[in-house]
Amino acid sequence: MYACRQRDKGNLPASDALRRPGSVRRDIVKVLVIEDEKKIASFVRKGLEAEGFVVELCYRGDEGYTLATTRPYDVLVLDIMLPGRDGLSILRNLRDRKMPLPVILLTARNELNERLEGLNLGADDYLAKPFFIEELIARIHAVTRRASGAVQSILSVSDLTVNLLTREVKRGGVAIDLTPREFSLLEHLLRSPGRVLTRVQICEQVWNYDFDPGTNLVDVYIQRLRKKVDADAAVKLIETIRGVGYRIKPQS
Ligand code: CA
Repeated sequence: MYACRQRDKGNLPASDALRRPGSVRRDIVKVLVIEDEKKIASFVRKGLEAEGFVVELCYRGDEGYTLATTRPYDVLVLDIMLPGRDGLSILRNLRDRKMPLPVILLTARNELNERLEGLNLGADDYLAKPFFIEELIARIHAVTRRASGAVQSILSVSDLTVNLLTREVKRGGVAIDLTPREFSLLEHLLRSPGRVLTRVQICEQVWNYDFDPGTNLVDVYIQRLRKKVDADAAVKLIETIRGVGYRIKPQS
């Protein structure tokens, strides 16, 4: 039958989990995933662990609710249709108990009403299946950042620094003026140096749009960002990965 499983903490890639080069140093993020579709659960676990998160999986709603209310997690990834107890009922009870645990709902394509109800009940975000693991990782970073009040706030690669609190951007110590959208684009790229973001992901994360393949919006903004961030620098940090998307050059 279904069972909740906890990963053996001894297997954690500790150095990786504690610090990722170029990103904000933060405590290890503990994620509870309640999802009864084992393929999805396993795909999510693998992806999140590769990101350095500690992941606990649970296949049943009732057991998941007990875990969520008795153990410390930084974020809950919650399916809606579950054996034992459904996701919305879990969310409702967490919020009734004033538990501030950030919740990201996983919804099926046809669950529009459930999605809206979930947001009304106090879900922090949702992701419609099927999704790319990078989207879930970005949302987890976003909700845990909100939850922690963004006290640790400097992203940097090479001589480029971005202060998320003061919104100051500097390259080689020289201040750079960015529009809010340019700032958001740079922030998303800088969150995972070396990882390629597709135009689809950038559109969703920076503009909250569904990607329109006919638009060159992302490319236009990348060009603007390059002029401001890279043009005068010897090392170009914003890289184009042909046919895929863009990334920040990883720290060597
Ligand atoms: Ca399900």
